[in-house]
Amino acid sequence: MTTLEKMKILTDSAQYDLCDYVSHHKSSQVNLPGIYEAIGHNGCKIPLFKTLQTNKCKNDCKYCINQSKRNFTRLELSPEELAKAFLGYYNRGLVNGLFLSSGISSDVESTMENQIETVHLLRKKYGYDDYIHLKIVPGASKDSIKRAMALANRVSINIEAATPSGLAELSSTKDYNKDILKRLSWINNLQHKSTTYPNSTHTTQLIIGANNESDREILSRMEKIYKKSELKRTYFSAFTPVQETEFSNKESCSTDRTSKLYNADSLLNDYHYDVKELVFDNNDNLLLTQDPKILAAENMNIFPVEINRAPLIELIRVPGIGMKSAREIISIRKKIPFSNKEQLRKLGVVVDRAEPYIKISGEYQTTFDF
Ligand code: SF4
Repeated sequence: MTTLEKMKILTDSAQYDLCDYVSHHKSSQVNLPGIYEAIGHNGCKIPLFKTLQTNKCKNDCKYCINQSKRNFTRLELSPEELAKAFLGYYNRGLVNGLFLSSGISSDVESTMENQIETVHLLRKKYGYDDYIHLKIVPGASKDSIKRAMALANRVSINIEAATPSGLAELSSTKDYNKDILKRLSWINNLQHKSTTYPNSTHTTQLIIGANNESDREILSRMEKIYKKSELKRTYFSAFTPVQETEFSNKESCSTDRTSKLYNADSLLNDYHYDVKELVFDNNDNLLLTQDPKILAAENMNIFPVEINRAPLIELIRVPGIGMKSAREIISIRKKIPFSNKEQLRKLGVVVDRAEPYIKISGEYQTTFDF
């Protein structure tokens, strides 16, 4: 089998891992395997080469295309093959970076070793100094995590579920606390305490809708992690059934659900909300038809807030006011108080959303019909 034929299989097997940027989809620009356009926070498209080192896996994650019980072509690329294949793309300007992940073929350490060797070759032998995201596999040793972080711009370990019992519904071969949360904590401590990894950030991913966990359980887990770590962000992968797996007849998860989880997760991570401020339905799930920030605001007794006096923590709870515009409001009002909503609009405030929740110089901005 040629390297190109192997890459076609391995890059298809890698498509379910979202852990880079806001969202991504396969590029239709170039007819070569493995090019994905990641969409950055500012909307720019960043083409990445995204592949597995191997699709051999001894684990039995019931949602996964690569799980051990499926019968399909299993193969791997050597570190040299993968490094050269990636550089073939990069040197032609087809991609701006590498996202490398792997199935766990025989043991965890040799899996990590192959990935690290690939990245080491790129950095030290071929002088590649652009973006690399490297996936840490569950159960990896602290030493291999350190070496991965010294070479990659970003690492991630997928927590997959919000609770040990939630993970047990998905897999019998991973230990939630020992193999995953402990490693997440190591990554965070290494990043936080050491000057060796100044450019390394970390992210995680959960599979949504493959087990019975509610949105409240998912967001409660994320709240705990954000409070204890510097996790950059979380990705929510909507479960899609894969043929020849135990979950092949299970219903898909709607992207409406993951989209609401992204909204609520941003309130926790970017705006420092507590889960207890969010509103859930009787099944502890977010309401799919309403914005979590507006629902949360309707349950708070701080409104209307005075634009010329409210502290940052209150300004960012106003629907239509983001962190950037809240900071600008505070900076500007020190010199000159705001007198009308057009001044807010110029700062990027979505005034139609914000006006029921604010006063400007003591004046309500909405007429209430009773
Ligand atoms: S560890 Fe689980 S999720 Fe990862 S490749 Fe193996 S079966 Fe798939």
